[in-house]
Amino acid sequence: MLQMYQTEFSRRSWVEIDLNQIKTNLLAYREAIPEWTQIMAVVKADAYGHGDAEVSKFLNRCGIRLFAVSNINEAMTLRKSGVTGEILILGYTPPESADLLLKYDITQALISEEYADTMAKICPEIKCQFALDTGMNRIGMDADFSDRCVETIRAFQKRMNLNGLFTHLCVADSSAPENVAFTRGQIRKFEEIAKKVADLPFPYIHCLNSAGGLSYADSCEYHGIVRLGIILYGLKPDANFQMPAEIRPSLTWKSVVSLVKTVNPGEFVGYGRSFCAKRRRVVATIPTGYADGLSRRLSGSGFVTIQNVRAPIIGKICMDQMMVDATEIPGIAVGDEVEIIGKSYTADDMAEQLDTIGYEVVCGISKRVPRVYRE
Ligand SMILES: *Cc1c(COP(=O)(O)O)cnc(C)c1O
Repeated sequence: MLQMYQTEFSRRSWVEIDLNQIKTNLLAYREAIPEWTQIMAVVKADAYGHGDAEVSKFLNRCGIRLFAVSNINEAMTLRKSGVTGEILILGYTPPESADLLLKYDITQALISEEYADTMAKICPEIKCQFALDTGMNRIGMDADFSDRCVETIRAFQKRMNLNGLFTHLCVADSSAPENVAFTRGQIRKFEEIAKKVADLPFPYIHCLNSAGGLSYADSCEYHGIVRLGIILYGLKPDANFQMPAEIRPSLTWKSVVSLVKTVNPGEFVGYGRSFCAKRRRVVATIPTGYADGLSRRLSGSGFVTIQNVRAPIIGKICMDQMMVDATEIPGIAVGDEVEIIGKSYTADDMAEQLDTIGYEVVCGISKRVPRVYRE
């Protein structure tokens, strides 16, 4: 039985998160990776738009005790909502916020030698993990200079509360031979350094993301932890990525019909008069627009689903509303539920239409769209 957590929210434009589906995804993912591999849930960017506090508290109840976020504010949000376990910040925290890391028991990524030195001077007690750059050129010490990395890791292990190492794979979602070779190279560089500091007591050594866990765990010695992001939410790391069967999106974006009218031939709909009715049309207005995170680029090409029928978006998507052609939907009425993203048209499908990735679609749903949870 599905149960709504929140009963009070405005039925204008809202997102429903099926927490049970997230649990199903977690279990299905676990089945597909080595038995002893732990999962670090990546809940950055408000859990990819799914709501970080609710999702993380739920994951705590599912037994997850490792979390990763992008910044100190996200980390504090989790702690303030009672999330327990380790929380790792994958990116930059301004040194002036170092005291918050300590106060909230947060682990900080050391993104360079210079950054590590700054943090060690300000606050050597903070928990930290060294980031290694094995080819992405985003953050981390350059793993091509492995001896230098080993030296630095050893030096900071003495100066700080250093408890691990990590790197990030940048094409683990691709099966193209040159990308597979590149990823294997990244893993080899990481392994080389990790082995040289194997005598240090590091409980957290990790390099696999969602795609990496499925495709490379067996060929990577350091698969004890997988940083699971996108697949936890049921979306694909890449449009061509083969997913375990039970993994499905957990997010549905809904709205309602606020007005129904007929438009006669020759009449226009919306800003710029971009749509002109050739025949008599039934037009439904829906109170969701680009300020809710619906890309305006779907004007004239996207659709919504009403009563399981697709209704094309006509005219330009407005800031807070849009109009759809509902001529083919019998008995359409004010108050009818509208599905913008759901089981039959997922965030991945919308991403394909927009020539982007599902990550961007779900992260782009605005904060003014309330999230409600079913379990
Ligand atoms: C975002 C991120 C992840 C998760 O990636 P997915 O593709 O969503 O699994 C893992 N590690 C780092 C460093 C990240 O930035």
